[in-house]
Amino acid sequence: MNEENSVRDRCRGHVLQNYGRLDIELVRGEGVRVWDREGRPYLDMGAGIAVCSLGHCHPALVGAIARQSEVLVHVSNLYHQELQGRLAERLCRDIGPGRCFFCNSGAEANEALFKLARRVGHESGRYEILTTHGSFHGRTLAGISATGQQKVKEGFGPLVPGFRQVPFNDLEAMAAAISPSTIAVLIEGIQGEGGIHAARPGYLTGLRSLCDRHGLLLLLDGVQCGHYRTGRFQSYQRILEDTPGRDAFLPDALAMAKSLGGGFPLGAVWIGERHAGALGPGSHGSTFGGNPLACAAGLAVLDEIESAGLADNARRTGEQLRSSLLGLQERCRSLIREVRGLGLMIGIEFEPDLLGLVGKPPLSLRMESELRRDGLLVIPAGTRTLRMLPPLNLTAGEADEAVTLLEGTLERIAR
Ligand code: PLP
Repeated sequence: MNEENSVRDRCRGHVLQNYGRLDIELVRGEGVRVWDREGRPYLDMGAGIAVCSLGHCHPALVGAIARQSEVLVHVSNLYHQELQGRLAERLCRDIGPGRCFFCNSGAEANEALFKLARRVGHESGRYEILTTHGSFHGRTLAGISATGQQKVKEGFGPLVPGFRQVPFNDLEAMAAAISPSTIAVLIEGIQGEGGIHAARPGYLTGLRSLCDRHGLLLLLDGVQCGHYRTGRFQSYQRILEDTPGRDAFLPDALAMAKSLGGGFPLGAVWIGERHAGALGPGSHGSTFGGNPLACAAGLAVLDEIESAGLADNARRTGEQLRSSLLGLQERCRSLIREVRGLGLMIGIEFEPDLLGLVGKPPLSLRMESELRRDGLLVIPAGTRTLRMLPPLNLTAGEADEAVTLLEGTLERIAR
């Protein structure tokens, strides 16, 4: 048995089969490229599902982790530690006055949002959180209860009570759904797993007014769309860029994870001043959350983004990528239905009957596998959409390469 097969057999035999794993084993990464065991390179436009924002093995991140691991890897949250304070200060600088809680993943960050909302509503007997169709908020029991996709909930009932979904980008539907039990509204600024759908500026400002009128918390899940992916720290800041009064817009709390640690597990929640006291001593916690190693990684990622101008690069290269994809759509009208997104968060929706590939498995999975065959890694979203969520330091040349590979694959399978 060769080594590759033994790796797969060992995984199949001993790792829980809760992922439909693709038939590829990645062994090394550098920048936007990864290599499989046979030495084949791939252009990784998925970046670990919007995680590796500096690309693979960036020296700034590698160096920070290596240096910190020689000084102090972990201390509990019973003690003060410098890096956690510095990272919290940095996040507040980029969002607004408030306080941060640190954890290890997006689901945990959202869990903290849910507990915050329940605490704030406790005295008035309000507990319900309204979320939206197509949303994704993580795989914990409360996370799937909040998520607006039936497929993640199936077989796990009874779910956590107190979550209800309404259509996304529909202010009237949200207003109509508010009940005497409602305490909060939670949305993603740009739905990621749902297929790259951005909130409209008027939806965001409308939700803010609605929440203010009804005494509700406006909660944002910035796990996938945050951390400069759109060209601004948070997607709402990018979406509202041209909206008068944008500086007055602030959510009440916001969840972060994924690219915050650039690949090192790190989640965070920012809570605005008004409600930051709601989670007092003993109300919430995490053993690993915000330990020195994780915070060193987070600070290194944010410092590199700032010093290398990667927010501007995400905006500029993202725009170039989007317009090249729109050009490809023009040339392939019968294949690509829509190209959408902001910065380096781009969705490509294919025509449902693309090349007769109707039926199961879904088109997005089959297209992912065709592209992988040609050396391009992308992430499926839903049945017909592929996502490009590459590192924020993607170069213009690499963006062109991705579009050329996609065009080549479309030509190959159209032949
Ligand atoms: N929220 C959003 C918007 C996500 O995209 C994800 C993961 O894809 C999560 C939460 C859950 O994050 P994690 O897998 O780190 O728990």
